[in-house]
Amino acid sequence: MSKPRIGFIGLGNMGTPMSARLLEAGYTVIGTDLSAENRARLVASGGSAVQSTGEVAALADVLILMLPNSSIVESVLESDGAAAALPQGAIVVDMSSSEPLRTRALAERLAASGGPTLVDAPVSGGVGGAVNGKLTIMAGGDAETIETLRPILEVLGKVRHTGEVGSGHALKALNNLLSATHLLVTSEAMAAGKEFGLDPQTMLEVFNSSSGRSGSTENKWPNFILPGSFDSGFGLALMLKDMRIAASLAESLGRPSQLGARAVELWGQAATELDPASDHTEIARWAASKD
Ligand code: NAD
Repeated sequence: MSKPRIGFIGLGNMGTPMSARLLEAGYTVIGTDLSAENRARLVASGGSAVQSTGEVAALADVLILMLPNSSIVESVLESDGAAAALPQGAIVVDMSSSEPLRTRALAERLAASGGPTLVDAPVSGGVGGAVNGKLTIMAGGDAETIETLRPILEVLGKVRHTGEVGSGHALKALNNLLSATHLLVTSEAMAAGKEFGLDPQTMLEVFNSSSGRSGSTENKWPNFILPGSFDSGFGLALMLKDMRIAASLAESLGRPSQLGARAVELWGQAATELDPASDHTEIARWAASKD
């Protein structure tokens, strides 16, 4: 495929910088979002924005979705008719963090109705990784389709083929169960250490040169929690969604995570007590507020 036209649905915290990078790399990008402000940001970066998902699909060789969850992905592709509006031979890449079993079932339904091939390619690396093209991309689908997509995906980050369709979504959810559990236990340890009289900066430096380090101690605490900005750009509700996907997948496979299930409970409690629009790094402030 020579420079395919890219359709992009979901121009939020992640979709906006990702579509901007594709434009910078010389791709034609036509996109949409429910928010007029987000559509205007695509136009400001040199892309074309349209009102409906069907209009995007009709013009796309590769349709990228960066949407909140599986229900929205399914409704855009099926109920709203985006899949049916795609040209013959188009590929759909769901880069959202969706539910692996629903992704598999969706791919089968699309194939059975003569629709597009579906690949899942969720990402890790946050808004910073999206801006810098340094995302980790977990691509599930047949090897040939992923090779076709590789030049596009490599504009956004490092691509790892994880297996059949749905495998990227499974790995992404499991990754976030780890990430969220690390972040909560790190926040509890930071609160206890502070109470003891330890300096938070010293604690982080020592964790980061010791075996307690993680993405939470290396990135989230120093960049978004210690400075008090709580603005990573990844919502607490989205993190909780991923944790629930991972925990229920583990359960359904007969491999339940007891620690993970407790982390889901605690994050769920935080979600009911905090503003629904909270950044996920607010979990640290919430953990510190508990006796
Ligand atoms: P976001 O809420 O900022 O963006 C989602 C966008 O989708 C919004 O702009 C919303 O208006 C749009 N949208 C919703 N329904 C729509 C519809 N029917 N038609 C068109 N647009 C619609 O979320 P985000 O942080 O960009 O995350 C997107 C996905 O990426 C989620 O699945 C999330 O879990 C995942 N993710 C996020 C991060 C992060 O750091 N923010 C990192 C990795 C993965």
